[in-house]
Amino acid sequence: MKLTVILGPMKSGKSFDLISFFSPLKYSNTKYALYQPKRNVRDEGIESRSGLFLDAEKVESLAHIGDSDFSVVGIDEIHMFDPKEVAHIEQALANGKEVVVSGLDMDYKGEMFTTVRRLLELGPTEVRYKRAVCNDCKKISATHTQVYDKGVPVTEGMPPVIPDDGTFGYEPVCRSCFVKTAR
Ligand SMILES: [Zn+2]
Repeated sequence: MKLTVILGPMKSGKSFDLISFFSPLKYSNTKYALYQPKRNVRDEGIESRSGLFLDAEKVESLAHIGDSDFSVVGIDEIHMFDPKEVAHIEQALANGKEVVVSGLDMDYKGEMFTTVRRLLELGPTEVRYKRAVCNDCKKISATHTQVYDKGVPVTEGMPPVIPDDGTFGYEPVCRSCFVKTAR
């Protein structure tokens, strides 16, 4: 059934979109579930920088979403899930569920996460690209997420998903301000 994908850099309002979609369902008779990757060590539940909050279950795998009795499934920080987990989303769609996911589209090198690419290969009903304010030039055109190690952009030598445990800094930047990996 319907697949909505919300993508963009840090601080672009992806969680806000997810929360606005799911909040009204609390008062409806629609059965829904919200998930977050266990790898997300930063948040307890889905939190928007505007202060809104929704409970989400932390899971390692999306294996059971296809056969659950929820008709709408939301997944936050989709880029932190293993690419093979996308098969479970495909199964959920085949079973008639509506799936709404959000996450970063590109890693610290400016390359698309494999999990996100596989998700787009499912042919989403809607893809929403969010933009943030660039940390450098302050234009509302940030498309990338720059990862900093003590203020210096990290451009190589890291896995695509860098744990957000406080070791590194993360800021949204636009295409021109983004410091690329030399290739
Ligand atoms: Zn910029």
